[in-house]
Amino acid sequence: MNISMKDKVVLVTGGSTGIGAATAKAFAANGAKVAINYARSTDAAQAVCDEIKAAGGVADLFQADVSQSSQARDVVDAVVRRFGQLDVLICNAGGLVDRKGLLDLTDEFYDQVLDLNVRSVVASCAAAIPHLEKTRGNVIVTGSVASQIGGGAGASLYAASKAAVQNLVKTYSKEFAGKGIRFNSVSPGTIYTLFHERHTKPEVLDMITKSIPMGRLGKPEDCAGAYLFLASHDLAGYITGQTIEVNGGQFMA
Ligand code: NAD
Repeated sequence: MNISMKDKVVLVTGGSTGIGAATAKAFAANGAKVAINYARSTDAAQAVCDEIKAAGGVADLFQADVSQSSQARDVVDAVVRRFGQLDVLICNAGGLVDRKGLLDLTDEFYDQVLDLNVRSVVASCAAAIPHLEKTRGNVIVTGSVASQIGGGAGASLYAASKAAVQNLVKTYSKEFAGKGIRFNSVSPGTIYTLFHERHTKPEVLDMITKSIPMGRLGKPEDCAGAYLFLASHDLAGYITGQTIEVNGGQFMA
Protein backbone atom coordinates (compact mmCIF):
# COMPACT_ATOMS: atom_id res chain seq x y z
CA MET A 1 0.00 0.00 0.00
CA ASN A 2 1.23 3.48 -0.71
CA ILE A 3 -0.11 7.01 -0.95
CA SER A 4 0.32 6.74 -4.74
CA MET A 5 -0.16 10.38 -5.79
CA LYS A 6 2.27 9.99 -8.69
CA ASP A 7 0.98 11.94 -11.70
CA LYS A 8 -2.38 12.60 -10.01
CA VAL A 9 -3.68 16.10 -10.73
CA VAL A 10 -4.78 17.88 -7.59
CA LEU A 11 -6.49 21.27 -7.41
CA VAL A 12 -6.19 23.06 -4.06
CA THR A 13 -8.43 26.11 -3.75
CA GLY A 14 -6.99 28.72 -1.42
CA GLY A 15 -3.61 27.06 -1.87
CA SER A 16 -1.40 30.12 -1.40
CA THR A 17 -1.21 30.20 2.40
CA GLY A 18 -1.87 28.21 5.58
CA ILE A 19 -3.48 24.78 5.36
CA GLY A 20 -3.89 24.93 1.58
CA ALA A 21 -0.22 25.78 1.01
CA ALA A 22 1.01 23.01 3.32
CA THR A 23 -1.33 20.56 1.61
CA ALA A 24 -0.26 21.61 -1.89
CA LYS A 25 3.39 21.04 -0.93
CA ALA A 26 2.61 17.66 0.65
CA PHE A 27 0.84 16.42 -2.49
CA ALA A 28 3.67 17.66 -4.71
CA ALA A 29 6.22 15.92 -2.48
CA ASN A 30 4.29 12.70 -3.09
CA GLY A 31 4.38 13.03 -6.87
CA ALA A 32 1.15 14.90 -7.65
CA LYS A 33 0.86 17.68 -10.20
CA VAL A 34 -0.56 20.50 -8.13
CA ALA A 35 -2.84 23.30 -9.29
CA ILE A 36 -2.66 26.12 -6.77
CA ASN A 37 -5.70 28.39 -6.77
CA TYR A 38 -5.48 31.80 -5.14
CA ALA A 39 -7.64 34.91 -5.22
CA ARG A 40 -5.46 37.88 -4.30
CA SER A 41 -2.25 36.68 -2.61
CA THR A 42 -0.16 36.45 -5.78
CA ASP A 43 3.24 36.63 -4.08
CA ALA A 44 2.41 33.93 -1.55
CA ALA A 45 0.99 31.67 -4.29
CA GLN A 46 4.08 32.21 -6.42
CA ALA A 47 6.30 31.32 -3.43
CA VAL A 48 4.46 28.00 -2.93
CA CYS A 49 4.74 27.21 -6.63
CA ASP A 50 8.45 28.09 -6.70
CA GLU A 51 9.15 25.97 -3.62
CA ILE A 52 7.44 22.96 -5.19
CA LYS A 53 9.33 23.36 -8.46
CA ALA A 54 12.66 23.88 -6.67
CA ALA A 55 12.08 20.53 -4.95
CA GLY A 56 11.55 18.87 -8.37
CA GLY A 57 7.75 18.89 -8.26
CA VAL A 58 5.12 20.02 -10.75
CA ALA A 59 2.81 22.95 -9.96
CA ASP A 60 1.03 25.83 -11.62
CA LEU A 61 -0.96 28.85 -10.48
CA PHE A 62 -4.65 29.49 -11.14
CA GLN A 63 -6.03 32.86 -10.08
CA ALA A 64 -9.77 32.88 -9.36
CA ASP A 65 -12.19 34.18 -6.76
CA VAL A 66 -13.97 30.89 -6.08
CA SER A 67 -16.71 32.61 -4.09
CA GLN A 68 -18.16 33.44 -7.53
CA SER A 69 -19.65 30.38 -9.21
CA SER A 70 -18.45 31.31 -12.68
CA GLN A 71 -14.85 31.68 -11.51
CA ALA A 72 -15.01 28.48 -9.47
CA ARG A 73 -16.21 26.60 -12.56
CA ASP A 74 -13.65 28.27 -14.82
CA VAL A 75 -10.74 27.36 -12.58
CA VAL A 76 -11.66 23.66 -12.70
CA ASP A 77 -11.82 23.79 -16.49
CA ALA A 78 -8.52 25.70 -16.69
CA VAL A 79 -6.79 23.04 -14.58
CA VAL A 80 -8.07 20.26 -16.86
CA ARG A 81 -6.94 22.21 -19.94
CA ARG A 82 -3.48 22.63 -18.41
CA PHE A 83 -2.93 19.14 -16.96
CA GLY A 84 -5.35 17.01 -19.02
CA GLN A 85 -7.33 15.58 -16.12
CA LEU A 86 -8.44 16.10 -12.52
CA ASP A 87 -8.00 13.43 -9.84
CA VAL A 88 -8.48 15.29 -6.58
CA LEU A 89 -10.36 18.50 -5.81
CA ILE A 90 -9.52 20.06 -2.46
CA CYS A 91 -12.08 22.73 -1.59
CA ASN A 92 -10.07 24.62 0.97
CA ALA A 93 -10.63 28.32 0.24
CA GLY A 94 -12.63 29.77 3.08
CA GLY A 95 -12.61 32.00 6.07
CA LEU A 96 -14.40 34.18 8.55
CA VAL A 97 -14.38 37.36 6.44
CA ASP A 98 -14.88 39.27 9.71
CA ARG A 99 -16.23 38.72 13.20
CA LYS A 100 -19.81 40.01 13.50
CA GLY A 101 -22.42 39.24 16.13
CA LEU A 102 -25.99 38.41 15.16
CA LEU A 103 -27.17 41.97 15.71
CA ASP A 104 -24.51 43.39 13.41
CA LEU A 105 -25.16 41.09 10.45
CA THR A 106 -26.05 42.58 7.09
CA ASP A 107 -27.31 40.87 3.97
CA GLU A 108 -24.07 41.78 2.25
CA PHE A 109 -21.98 40.13 4.98
CA TYR A 110 -24.23 37.06 4.93
CA ASP A 111 -23.64 36.71 1.20
CA GLN A 112 -19.89 37.18 1.56
CA VAL A 113 -19.51 34.44 4.18
CA LEU A 114 -21.86 31.96 2.53
CA ASP A 115 -20.48 32.60 -0.95
CA LEU A 116 -16.90 32.08 0.21
CA ASN A 117 -17.51 28.97 2.28
CA VAL A 118 -20.50 27.27 0.62
CA ARG A 119 -21.09 28.57 -2.92
CA SER A 120 -17.39 27.99 -3.71
CA VAL A 121 -17.71 24.33 -2.73
CA VAL A 122 -20.99 23.74 -4.55
CA ALA A 123 -19.77 25.37 -7.77
CA SER A 124 -16.36 23.72 -7.87
CA CYS A 125 -17.78 20.29 -7.05
CA ALA A 126 -20.37 20.61 -9.82
CA ALA A 127 -17.70 21.63 -12.32
CA ALA A 128 -15.39 18.83 -11.23
CA ILE A 129 -17.86 15.93 -11.43
CA PRO A 130 -17.45 15.10 -15.16
CA HIS A 131 -13.66 15.13 -14.79
CA LEU A 132 -13.63 13.13 -11.56
CA GLU A 133 -15.92 10.57 -13.12
CA LYS A 134 -13.25 9.91 -15.75
CA THR A 135 -10.48 9.45 -13.17
CA ARG A 136 -12.66 7.91 -10.43
CA GLY A 137 -11.30 10.75 -8.36
CA ASN A 138 -12.35 12.35 -5.12
CA VAL A 139 -13.14 15.59 -3.34
CA ILE A 140 -11.93 16.74 0.06
CA VAL A 141 -13.57 19.75 1.67
CA THR A 142 -12.00 21.73 4.48
CA GLY A 143 -14.57 21.87 7.27
CA SER A 144 -13.98 23.13 10.80
CA VAL A 145 -14.30 22.12 14.41
CA ALA A 146 -16.70 25.08 14.55
CA SER A 147 -19.19 22.99 12.57
CA GLN A 148 -19.54 20.75 15.63
CA ILE A 149 -19.05 23.06 18.60
CA GLY A 150 -20.36 26.32 17.13
CA GLY A 151 -18.33 29.35 16.22
CA GLY A 152 -16.28 31.56 18.51
CA ALA A 153 -17.26 35.19 19.02
CA GLY A 154 -18.77 36.70 15.88
CA ALA A 155 -18.35 33.50 13.86
CA SER A 156 -21.92 32.20 13.70
CA LEU A 157 -22.30 32.30 9.93
CA TYR A 158 -18.82 30.89 9.42
CA ALA A 159 -19.54 27.95 11.74
CA ALA A 160 -22.89 27.32 10.08
CA SER A 161 -21.32 27.48 6.63
CA LYS A 162 -18.75 24.85 7.62
CA ALA A 163 -21.54 22.64 9.00
CA ALA A 164 -23.27 23.08 5.64
CA VAL A 165 -20.30 21.93 3.59
CA GLN A 166 -19.58 18.97 5.87
CA ASN A 167 -23.20 17.99 5.36
CA LEU A 168 -22.95 18.47 1.58
CA VAL A 169 -20.06 16.00 1.61
CA LYS A 170 -22.40 13.35 3.03
CA THR A 171 -25.10 13.94 0.42
CA TYR A 172 -22.68 14.14 -2.51
CA SER A 173 -20.91 10.98 -1.34
CA LYS A 174 -24.20 9.11 -1.73
CA GLU A 175 -25.16 10.89 -4.96
CA PHE A 176 -21.89 10.13 -6.73
CA ALA A 177 -20.72 6.82 -5.21
CA GLY A 178 -22.14 5.04 -8.26
CA LYS A 179 -19.82 7.08 -10.48
CA GLY A 180 -16.82 6.06 -8.35
CA ILE A 181 -16.31 9.53 -6.85
CA ARG A 182 -15.62 9.83 -3.12
CA PHE A 183 -16.29 12.92 -0.98
CA ASN A 184 -14.77 13.50 2.46
CA SER A 185 -13.82 16.39 4.68
CA VAL A 186 -10.96 17.37 6.94
CA SER A 187 -12.09 19.32 9.97
CA PRO A 188 -9.23 21.31 11.50
CA GLY A 189 -9.28 22.54 15.07
CA THR A 190 -7.43 25.76 15.89
CA ILE A 191 -4.56 25.92 13.43
CA TYR A 192 -2.23 28.91 13.62
CA THR A 193 -2.49 30.60 10.21
CA LEU A 194 -3.36 34.03 8.78
CA PHE A 195 -6.95 33.14 9.69
CA HIS A 196 -6.19 33.63 13.40
CA GLU A 197 -3.46 36.23 12.87
CA ARG A 198 -6.18 38.40 11.32
CA HIS A 199 -9.21 37.54 13.41
CA THR A 200 -8.29 36.15 16.85
CA LYS A 201 -6.74 38.04 19.77
CA PRO A 202 -3.56 36.50 21.26
CA GLU A 203 -5.20 36.16 24.69
CA VAL A 204 -8.04 34.15 23.14
CA LEU A 205 -5.52 31.89 21.39
CA ASP A 206 -3.79 31.38 24.77
CA MET A 207 -7.10 30.29 26.30
CA ILE A 208 -7.78 27.93 23.42
CA THR A 209 -4.27 26.47 23.68
CA LYS A 210 -4.90 25.64 27.34
CA SER A 211 -8.05 23.72 26.34
CA ILE A 212 -6.23 21.50 23.84
CA PRO A 213 -5.12 18.16 25.34
CA MET A 214 -1.97 18.13 23.19
CA GLY A 215 -1.08 21.53 24.66
CA ARG A 216 -0.46 23.50 21.47
CA LEU A 217 -2.22 25.05 18.51
CA GLY A 218 -2.13 23.12 15.25
CA LYS A 219 0.21 23.93 12.39
CA PRO A 220 -0.85 23.79 8.72
CA GLU A 221 1.48 20.80 8.25
CA ASP A 222 -0.47 18.91 10.93
CA CYS A 223 -3.45 18.87 8.56
CA ALA A 224 -1.76 17.81 5.32
CA GLY A 225 -1.54 14.09 6.14
CA ALA A 226 -5.30 13.77 6.53
CA TYR A 227 -5.84 15.14 3.00
CA LEU A 228 -3.20 12.79 1.57
CA PHE A 229 -4.75 9.82 3.31
CA LEU A 230 -8.29 10.60 2.14
CA ALA A 231 -7.10 11.31 -1.41
CA SER A 232 -5.28 8.01 -1.74
CA HIS A 233 -7.32 5.32 -3.42
CA ASP A 234 -5.04 2.66 -1.92
CA LEU A 235 -5.39 3.92 1.64
CA ALA A 236 -8.93 5.32 1.68
CA GLY A 237 -10.69 3.80 -1.34
CA TYR A 238 -13.61 2.55 0.79
CA ILE A 239 -13.97 5.77 2.81
CA THR A 240 -16.59 8.25 1.67
CA GLY A 241 -18.91 10.75 3.34
CA GLN A 242 -16.58 10.99 6.37
CA THR A 243 -14.81 13.71 8.30
CA ILE A 244 -11.35 13.49 9.86
CA GLU A 245 -10.93 15.78 12.87
CA VAL A 246 -7.40 17.25 13.13
CA ASN A 247 -7.35 19.09 16.43
CA GLY A 248 -4.92 17.74 19.03
CA GLY A 249 -7.86 16.41 21.04
CA GLN A 250 -9.65 19.79 21.19
CA PHE A 251 -12.90 18.12 20.19
CA MET A 252 -13.78 14.43 20.01
CA ALA A 253 -16.75 13.46 17.87
P1 NAD B 1 -5.66 31.18 5.37
O1 NAD B 1 -6.30 32.50 5.48
O2 NAD B 1 -4.17 31.10 5.34
O3 NAD B 1 -6.20 30.38 4.10
C1 NAD B 1 -7.37 30.70 3.41
C2 NAD B 1 -7.04 30.65 1.96
O4 NAD B 1 -8.21 30.86 1.17
C3 NAD B 1 -6.06 31.76 1.61
O5 NAD B 1 -5.04 31.22 0.81
C4 NAD B 1 -6.91 32.75 0.84
O6 NAD B 1 -6.16 33.48 -0.07
C5 NAD B 1 -7.88 31.81 0.17
N1 NAD B 1 -9.08 32.49 -0.26
C6 NAD B 1 -9.85 33.35 0.46
N2 NAD B 1 -10.86 33.79 -0.28
C7 NAD B 1 -10.73 33.20 -1.50
C8 NAD B 1 -11.48 33.25 -2.68
N3 NAD B 1 -12.58 34.00 -2.77
N4 NAD B 1 -11.06 32.52 -3.75
C9 NAD B 1 -9.94 31.77 -3.67
N5 NAD B 1 -9.19 31.67 -2.55
C10 NAD B 1 -9.59 32.38 -1.49
O7 NAD B 1 -6.20 30.33 6.60
P2 NAD B 1 -6.30 28.76 6.82
O8 NAD B 1 -6.47 28.61 8.26
O9 NAD B 1 -5.21 28.04 6.12
O10 NAD B 1 -7.69 28.43 6.13
C11 NAD B 1 -7.84 27.38 5.17
C12 NAD B 1 -9.17 26.73 5.37
O11 NAD B 1 -9.18 26.11 6.66
C13 NAD B 1 -10.36 27.68 5.36
O12 NAD B 1 -11.44 27.05 4.70
C14 NAD B 1 -10.67 27.85 6.83
O13 NAD B 1 -12.00 28.20 7.04
C15 NAD B 1 -10.36 26.46 7.32
N6 NAD B 1 -10.15 26.30 8.77
C16 NAD B 1 -9.14 26.96 9.40
C17 NAD B 1 -8.96 26.76 10.76
C18 NAD B 1 -7.87 27.44 11.53
O14 NAD B 1 -7.88 27.36 12.76
N7 NAD B 1 -6.91 28.08 10.88
C19 NAD B 1 -9.81 25.92 11.46
C20 NAD B 1 -10.83 25.26 10.77
C21 NAD B 1 -10.98 25.46 9.42
